[in-house]
Amino acid sequence: MLECFKRDDSKPTNDIGSHGEGESFKPKWGYIVPHTKKAGGAETPDNKWSEYQYGKVIAITNGEFIPWDDRNHGGVKAASQRLVANGCNSLFEDHKNAYRGFTRGAEVLVIRGDELSVKYAEFILEEFKKQFPDHPIRGIKQMKKGGRGYANLVAMKRGGADVALLGEMFFIDNVKDWIDPEVYAKFLVRVMGNV
Ligand SMILES: [Zn+2]
Repeated sequence: MLECFKRDDSKPTNDIGSHGEGESFKPKWGYIVPHTKKAGGAETPDNKWSEYQYGKVIAITNGEFIPWDDRNHGGVKAASQRLVANGCNSLFEDHKNAYRGFTRGAEVLVIRGDELSVKYAEFILEEFKKQFPDHPIRGIKQMKKGGRGYANLVAMKRGGADVALLGEMFFIDNVKDWIDPEVYAKFLVRVMGNV
């Protein structure tokens, strides 16, 4: 591929200012359920919840306020394309972390150097800290090619998103880090609901 056609995935898909709102970018959030029905990701110690099942419940609970899609038909890129076609410009794929059952904390992954996404990742983590003060904040992880979640983030960008975030707001394999889905759903509506 010629260098001049190579795109920079750390940049918004559309130039800021091309949204008809002058220079102020306004996120319109879309929610992506992580993993798939067949392979649901990490699970709670009692195997009652997978990342997929948790995400699906959140998506349906918040469906009136946050458009959502899942990866069952065409993966992250196709889900992103459908959400962008539905008017979204900012996407959040809502994973949970897992590590041997004892680690805690919230982190948000972005493509390295993606300043617009970093800004919204900061906002979400700040709001999370306010609402869940007893939950540790692991911070923003700027991922490079080959890193955790990088391919998902690029798929969101290639699907047309300006802001691409992959959240891991708690460890699903640690009961001490668990957040009740109803409480978590309300938190997301507060920070990304199109209300
Ligand atoms: Zn996951």
